[in-house]
Amino acid sequence: MKIGFIGLGNMGGPMALNLIKKGHTLTVFDVRKAQAEPHLSGGATWADNPAAAARNAEVVFTSLPGPKEIEHVATGEGGLIHGMAKGAIYADLSTGSPTLIRRIHDTFKEKGIPVLDTPVSGGTPGARNATLAVMVGGDEALYNKIKPVLDCIGDKVSYVGPIGAGAVAKLVHNMIAICTTEILAEAFTMGVKAGVDPQALLTAVQNGAYGQGMMLRGAMPRVIFKGGFDKASFALRLARKDLGLATELAREHNVPMPVANLVEQGMIEAIVKGWAEKDSSAAFMVQEERAGVKVRTEN
Ligand code: NAD
Repeated sequence: MKIGFIGLGNMGGPMALNLIKKGHTLTVFDVRKAQAEPHLSGGATWADNPAAAARNAEVVFTSLPGPKEIEHVATGEGGLIHGMAKGAIYADLSTGSPTLIRRIHDTFKEKGIPVLDTPVSGGTPGARNATLAVMVGGDEALYNKIKPVLDCIGDKVSYVGPIGAGAVAKLVHNMIAICTTEILAEAFTMGVKAGVDPQALLTAVQNGAYGQGMMLRGAMPRVIFKGGFDKASFALRLARKDLGLATELAREHNVPMPVANLVEQGMIEAIVKGWAEKDSSAAFMVQEERAGVKVRTEN
């Protein structure tokens, strides 16, 4: 396929190389021309702006830092909209704003150019080894059409929903990854200051229920999505006791734990609501009430 690729950074660079390796014909652009060296040696063609890179392409990818650059490359001077042919597909691999990609989708639609949001996850090793997760938002038939191309950059390509859904999923993923780092920092500083060896702690956590994927693979799909909080496999009162013991231990050792203490307040709120004998995952319902939404699947 003829592909235009804009943004050859840490992620875009190796993704574009994988597309070349799989036999696609690339025209590339980056504000830093040196980034394109390996691609040009691999047979890609250089273009002087995004519109030129997109001109003869059947599919155009962008992998750019954020919303400002995406908007500029898509609709600014020398942008994709001024070069892409009717019917060619624009897919944005960056982590961007769902609202912006929906706006770009609507603007491009007027010109007969379909748009997908296709953010990726898996870091630079994933980009190099073509083992990325690709979270796709947009028209499903279009997704099916472009999937063989996306399979060249990732081995976990999945359809998430209408335009913007991929970007939402990516933000959900990254928020979890970023915020759990703080929880891990609080927990491990507490554990180490309380006298336990870091590696021994890590092994214990990896071996424990959480480390085995209890939350993402167990409680989320089996209890929370089904609203099955009444049948407690681990009662909320016991989880509240454990978190209380942990924040107490942190106080004993002068370890600040801002997030854990905030979470403890939510657990107390759940107990006050009369949920002590429900499953510990009922703490999820406190946030559902605040947010005015339930996280349930139909079946
Ligand atoms: P990067 O900064 O290394 O790459 C961005 C590239 O875009 C650079 O080469 C830059 O020169 C180019 N660029 C910037 N403005 C441009 C413009 N106006 N026109 C053309 N090119 C332009 O960033 P990255 O780490 O490759 O990340 C790219 C996107 O992927 C980001 O949205 C990031 O959040 C997301 N992401 C990154 C990772 C990661 O581990 N690095 C993982 C998943 C997703």
